[in-house]
Amino acid sequence: MLARAQALISESALRGNLTALARRAQTRLLLPVKANAYGHDLETVARLAAQHPDVWGFGVAVPREAAALAALKLGKPVLLLTPPTPEEVGPLADLGVRLPVASLAEADALPAYARAHLKVDTGMNRLGARPEEAVQVGLRLAERGLLEGAYTHFATADEPDLSFSREQFARFQGVLAALPPVLAHAANGGGILSFGPLPGLSLARPGLAAYGFAPAHLRQVAPLTPVMTLRARVTHVHPVHPGESVSYGGLWRAAHETTVATVGIGYADGYPRGATGQAQVLVRGERRPVLGRICMDQCMVDVTGLDVQVGDWVEVWGRDELTVTEVAQWGGTVEYEVLTGLGTRVERVAEH
Ligand SMILES: *Cc1c(COP(=O)(O)O)cnc(C)c1O
Repeated sequence: MLARAQALISESALRGNLTALARRAQTRLLLPVKANAYGHDLETVARLAAQHPDVWGFGVAVPREAAALAALKLGKPVLLLTPPTPEEVGPLADLGVRLPVASLAEADALPAYARAHLKVDTGMNRLGARPEEAVQVGLRLAERGLLEGAYTHFATADEPDLSFSREQFARFQGVLAALPPVLAHAANGGGILSFGPLPGLSLARPGLAAYGFAPAHLRQVAPLTPVMTLRARVTHVHPVHPGESVSYGGLWRAAHETTVATVGIGYADGYPRGATGQAQVLVRGERRPVLGRICMDQCMVDVTGLDVQVGDWVEVWGRDELTVTEVAQWGGTVEYEVLTGLGTRVERVAEH
């Protein structure tokens, strides 16, 4: 059966982004591949990235992702970025998954063959031990021979004002100074682009940036290319006469004779319904408006004057002319949410 929508995953764009980010950070990378590799497909991204010399390993958010990745046997470390439940610790350690640790109780509960990354809360107030407790936990892990790494997470590194990130980093450095040498990591994509190399760090964790996106004020810092192009097929072409409306609610009404193409992508595929009224797509390289409400499985596009046939591809977002950044703005959201919301019906195709 023909997929109505395809996400083309550019291997060369991903490779180039990883190289650029490792160079900017002056470290190897712990590549976040959570949420199906930000919607790009875990297996496709992980297999490709595992070949990249700058990739040390992978970061995932939940145990199921860790297990899926371990099953690929790529020979690269996997770090679970959120706390496992006590029941999950043993099975994850058995799979070789590195575990975050933020308390003495957690440190003591690890099996002797586990590898831990001390999680330090330097101000995000989401996860981790506060710096003063973190030192104790880290020393306990080191005593047990389980301490592989230590990390923290910036709350505002993608913003122009870096003062809070600097405070966070100073707190983290204080903890590192009290520990034996470990694989230390702090910067997400925003942190890498904002700071470049940070003293004492050996890994960096670029998520969105690895997939090709930077905040507007940091776009010049490193050459990044969006990895995904999303395209969908025209499933029907029909005329709409002046005065007639299109789609639910009749929000859009034809002022002139209009040729309308129905396209096989909708909000169930992750095309944000909130973009209704603003959305555009590329038809034969030309920007054309999406007419009326974006539906669950479909949307309608003004293709008047263009030679468009059933089966043609329409570009929903891509690498330069119309990116996810713009689609996210129309939808009142951010690239992260649009990419991770990409539905399972969208076929992922690696482009070599
Ligand atoms: C998701 C995540 C990242 C990546 O963040 P980006 O903003 O996408 O670069 C880094 N570190 C942790 C702990 C994360 O959960």
